[in-house]
Amino acid sequence: MARITLDNLAHSYLPNPASEDDFALKELNHDWTDGEAYALLGASGCGKSTLLNIISGLLIPSQGRVLFDGEDMTTAATADRNIAQVFQFPVVYDTMTVRENLAFPLKNRKLDSAEIARRVQKVSAMIGMDAELDRKARGLTADAKQKISLGRGMVREDVNALLFDEPLTVIDPHMKWELRTQLKKLHDDFGHTMIYVTHDQTEALTFADKVVVMHDGRVVQIGTPQDLFERPAHTFVGYFIGSPGMNLFNATLDGTRARIGDATVDLGAHYAASGKIQIGVRPEFIRLQAGGDGIPARIDRIEDVGRHKIVRLDVGGTEVSAIANEGDAIPADVDRIGFAPEGINVYADDWRVEATQNVPGKDAA
Ligand code: ADP
Ligand code: MG
Repeated sequence: MARITLDNLAHSYLPNPASEDDFALKELNHDWTDGEAYALLGASGCGKSTLLNIISGLLIPSQGRVLFDGEDMTTAATADRNIAQVFQFPVVYDTMTVRENLAFPLKNRKLDSAEIARRVQKVSAMIGMDAELDRKARGLTADAKQKISLGRGMVREDVNALLFDEPLTVIDPHMKWELRTQLKKLHDDFGHTMIYVTHDQTEALTFADKVVVMHDGRVVQIGTPQDLFERPAHTFVGYFIGSPGMNLFNATLDGTRARIGDATVDLGAHYAASGKIQIGVRPEFIRLQAGGDGIPARIDRIEDVGRHKIVRLDVGGTEVSAIANEGDAIPADVDRIGFAPEGINVYADDWRVEATQNVPGKDAA
């Protein structure tokens, strides 16, 4: 196992990149802690596979270095990195049996046959393929072949890291949950460094200790699921994580207050920032009011989604979402919204800004 360091790393697929826009992966410095389970989360095309392939050695970065436990591996061959990588689509040997496919990475490492048999048995149980061990891979469904690919990724115990690039895409929905649970168990048992790429926030948040959120070639936040929920570092994180995502209000700052349209909101702390100012408040922290202070709003519709209700409001022509718990009465005469102070985030040019001074009751750390 190894700590993986990305040092001034960036990548452009163009031979002569002229501006930042030409980089599929924008400059990045990060240490992947040895033994941690990470999810790499972002929309399609944001650079996730580019980053993963640089770590595994399928791609040599145009700038910066990749270190394993401090040793420069930037241009080392994939085979010398001792990494297992599982891709979105199956990579199996059709003419081999399932058992031979699973054993292949171990035979390559010249493990003895008893040890190979033990590990193959264990992994085949994890992926639910005990009954098919002696079948040829040819003729199996894409779903079954992908399970073999996953198994091959999981069969070695001595790897520096396990990289998964959207591995459950072709897997049947009811099996996804089961396999993700097995991957998590594998991590608990062996403590490998794992990086799991996905565009699905539920997958990311349930799998990982730390989630790395990418947007447009840039890592915008690395944090626990709770960090991403409570303090989204970038408006994209607020919008992408959570269901529905964070509400954003254009605002101007005035010390401890913000003006949003004709309304004034108390921020609970002092902020100083310039650029495009927005106040971000998740639906869980929007308060519905009838009269009093607040921002004029009108209820458009209420969606019952089981455990809670989503209230869609019209605020000066923009849709704002609020979450009301099951059993909470929603007054018919709601005409304003307010913000729970602990749910207020301030953004300047899409990046979260910290309060400049603490006010009792509001943790601005
Ligand atoms: P993701 O895995 O998040 O969907 P990728 O890392 O595959 O994103 O792609 C990031 C960007 O780089 C995209 O704009 C994509 O079109 C571009 N890209 C990916 N692979 C290549 C390539 N081999 N040559 C040129 N551009 C590429
Ligand atoms: Mg990809």
